[in-house]
Formats: sequence, structure tokens, C-alpha cells
Amino acid sequence: MKIAFFSAKPYDKDFFNRQNKTFNYDIQYWETHLGPHIVNAIDEGTEVVCVFVNDKLTAEVITVLAIKKVKVIALRCAGFNNVDLDAARKQGIKICRVPAYSPEAVAEHAVAMLLTLNRKTHKAYNRVREQNFSLNGLLGYNLHGKTVGVIGTGKIGKAFCRIMTGFGCKVLAYDPYEDRELQASGIHYLPFQELLGCSDIISLHCPLTVENHYLINENTLKKIKKGVTIINTSRGGLIHTDDVISALKTGQVGYLGIDVYEQEEKLFFKDLSGSIIDDDKIQRLMSFPNVLVTGHQAFFTEDAMEQIASITLNSIHALENGISPSDPAVILV
Ligand code: NAD
Repeated sequence: MKIAFFSAKPYDKDFFNRQNKTFNYDIQYWETHLGPHIVNAIDEGTEVVCVFVNDKLTAEVITVLAIKKVKVIALRCAGFNNVDLDAARKQGIKICRVPAYSPEAVAEHAVAMLLTLNRKTHKAYNRVREQNFSLNGLLGYNLHGKTVGVIGTGKIGKAFCRIMTGFGCKVLAYDPYEDRELQASGIHYLPFQELLGCSDIISLHCPLTVENHYLINENTLKKIKKGVTIINTSRGGLIHTDDVISALKTGQVGYLGIDVYEQEEKLFFKDLSGSIIDDDKIQRLMSFPNVLVTGHQAFFTEDAMEQIASITLNSIHALENGISPSDPAVILV
């Protein structure tokens, strides 16, 4: 079976080729992302397209996939805000994803961002390499005793809650669906607006939906504690970038760690070190000493990559053979 694999990076090829030894699929790796510019070039006979977070599966793209008789869209990620599910449903194309592949990978990266921003280890690393052992400007704060507000307590948010509890933080949460196990472990759920006002640190772990687009905006930023640390490893569209820049300028936001960015598809996963970046917002963000940007790497651990490749190929195999995957959350359409 032929699979057109978009947004392919060398590490994707390593992990998928290794797992594909069991299946022997004909995987054609495309470096470009999938979008209207390339969809017509997909080979006849391709039955599956395998895509990632910044591939654009609009109704227009899905219509062409249907004409080409593509049967499955295999997302090798959890989020699916980049796919028009209704269009796929109408065209009879099945969609599978990797709903959980190591929530700890993402949760641990959120913690890494928090610790880096707070304890400034990235600055210390550069400083001591130049034999500058001064501590000026490296002052941090204890996590122990701080209040952490977690927005979204699904798989990743829950893993993050557990880690922060281990640090001795008071953990508050907001999620329309409260998790009994977390409650039993001492985590308190609060309404969203209340959580904003109580938290020293806010970490976003909900998916991007129409309802929560720009969840962090001018109005909600007014409700947060002055000097708050915000960490976003979920999706860029949860934060209104201009509004958070204004809040950083006034000190309302004390630290910002983002692994995701609204306009990331033009930037992330690419080496642009020799290019002029035509995005003034990301440049402004990166100019703040209290902002840390990573390029959507929270998922990127060996453990997670192995699971992503294995779950994706097993789901394709199941769909090919008309079997339901053991985890129903794998199938979106
Ligand atoms: P999940 O589906 O297990 O949990 C999401 C939770 O968010 C659910 O409990 C849901 O009820 C809750 N939720 C929905 N809307 C909400 C809102 N407005 N406010 C508060 N809670 C809300 O998902 P997950 O596996 O924990 O992943 C969370 C998100 O992390 C994904 O949607 C994806 O966008 C992101 N993600 C990022 C990376 C990365 O590498 N940076 C990797 C994987 C996932």
C-alpha cells in the first residue's frame, strides 16, 4: 500500500522506517507540508496520506484527496484543528490520529520551560562559557509553595499536575470535565476566571477549538496575577499574541514560555538561520529576556517518536483490514 508522508524530517524517516519493517508499506516521504500547492502532485494509487500538525487539510485539499481515491488521512499527532473533519466525512475518507503517545513527554517539556525561564539556566549556560560567573540577573523563585493553574486536565494536563504536585506546588485546575482521580489527589477545580486570579503559574493543556480560540486575550490577561508565568505547549491560537506582547511590556505577564505559536507553520520545523524572518510578532517575542520560545518540540522524545510511528502504522493496518483499533479515540471520522 502506498502512503504519501508529508512534512517528513530525517527523524520521522528513521522511526517510521524502523516500524515499517513489520508492514512493508511503500512510504513516499515529502519534505513539504500538505496543502493546496501540492495535493495535485500526489501519485495515483496512493491510499493513505500521513500528516502532522502544520499540514493543511482544508475542504479543498480533501476534495482532491477524494478524487485521487485516498482512503485514509493518518494524523501522526493528537491535535486535529488543522483538518476539516466534516469535509472528510462527506468524502468518505477515514481519519486516524495518535490520541496518546506519551503525555509525559509534553508535560515534562512544559516543566523544562518553566524551570528554564525561572532559573535562567539557558543564560547561565552561555554566561559561564565566557567565564562570567556573576549571578546578577539570574535570580529565580522557588516553585515549592507556588500556585499552579492548569487549563485542561486531559492526558497531558494530568501528567503536568502530578509533576507540579511533586514540586510542592498548590495545583488548581480548570476543565469542563473534572477528573475524579486528580481531585482525590488534592487538586482543586475552579472556574476559569477564578483560577486566573489565583495562579502564579498558568499552563495551557487544552486543545484549540472555536470556543477557546484566544483564551488568553486582553480581557483574561487583566484578570491574572501581575507577574504570572504562562506556559503554552498546546496550540498557538490559544493565546492572542499582540495582547500577550502588551502584557509583557507592562509586566502583567512576568514570564512566557511557548512551544507553539499562532503563525508557526511558516517557521517551525525549518532551519531559517540564514533567512530574514518576515514575522515581526515572533521577533518581538524573542527579543524579551523573559520569553522562551521552542519550536514545537514538546512531543520530541525517543519514547514518544517510537509510539507515534507504531500507533500510526498499526492504525493504518487496522483500517486497511477493516478492524477497529483497540483505542476508539484513534478514529476521528
Ligand atoms: P486530551 O484530549 O487528553 O485533553 C484535553 C483536555 O482539555 C480535556 O480534558 C478537555 O475536556 C479539556 N478542555 C477542552 N476545552 C477546554 C477549555 N476551553 N478549557 C479547559 N479545558 C478544556 O488532550 P491531551 O493529549 O492532553 O493534549 C492537549 C493538547 O496538547 C492537544 O490538543 C494538543 O493541542 C497539544 N499537544 C501539543 C504537543 C506539542 O508537542 N507541543 C504534543 C501533543 C499535544
